[in-house]
Amino acid sequence: MTLSGAILISEVGPRDGLQSVKSIMSTADKCRWIDALVAAGVQEIEVGSFVPAHLLPQLADTAAVLRHGLTHRGVTIMALVPNLRGAQAALEAGAQKLTIPVSASAPHSLANVRKTREAMVEEVHAIARLRDAMAPGVKIEAGIATAFGCTIQGEVAEDDVIWLASQCIAAGADESGLSDTTGMANPAQVRRLFTRLRAAIGAKAGAAHLHNTRGLGLANCLAAYDVGVTTFDASLGGLGGCPYAPGASGNVVTEDLVFMFEAMGVNTGIDIEKLMAARAPLQAGLPGEVLYGMTPEAGLPKNWHPSIRT
Ligand code: ZN
Repeated sequence: MTLSGAILISEVGPRDGLQSVKSIMSTADKCRWIDALVAAGVQEIEVGSFVPAHLLPQLADTAAVLRHGLTHRGVTIMALVPNLRGAQAALEAGAQKLTIPVSASAPHSLANVRKTREAMVEEVHAIARLRDAMAPGVKIEAGIATAFGCTIQGEVAEDDVIWLASQCIAAGADESGLSDTTGMANPAQVRRLFTRLRAAIGAKAGAAHLHNTRGLGLANCLAAYDVGVTTFDASLGGLGGCPYAPGASGNVVTEDLVFMFEAMGVNTGIDIEKLMAARAPLQAGLPGEVLYGMTPEAGLPKNWHPSIRT
């Protein structure tokens, strides 16, 4: 797929956002939300997670949502898979890209997936082999979780993060990105780690998945952009947590991220007015859920000129 923008904004709200809210959005509402995102020019959407329904009932309909997403052209429909079983289900449903969370913190890995980091690398290897057999065109991303800090062990050694990303690439992942799962990253750390990641795995360095837990989401995205990152995960309305409350885990707000880049003249390929309009179907599907975002609240500046479109 050719990118219509200089950077790729990957919308993770239907997965990361929804997994953090208690209420369940109906399949039809999810599909309307995805349609609105596609209409705005969003080119990659993580539509859900292939985990047992009892663990995340909000995402139990991921296969159906994924199949709906596939009716659109020009957008990559991806899904999170924590293990081989999930990967098989995702590939059977037709997922175009898989993302596997691999935790750099040993205790977080055990708590989250009940596997050691080394066992997760083995899982990446098994998923890559399954992909080769079932759907060779499907890309696999290993997202290094807790790359910037962990709520269980605190600091995570940068050497561990880079070691794990390199192991995942050696095991067959096509790219490896870094995730601020716990919202602990700062811009200096983001610059340092993504620079080291690129030095270790070159063009296979993947997305910046940054949260806005402590209000540093945009600053961290800009820091990543400055050291060459071109894919950014974000969530419409910052769904999944309050950016201003302790313990919240909201993703970077897609609307604010697109505004920042477009205002800088960096083409995202996304029409920000249509993007903000996509909040309506999201809100309709989750009545009562608070949506965040400074740009939607303030509106676009007078004489707003988005970056030149190609
Ligand atoms: Zn996240």
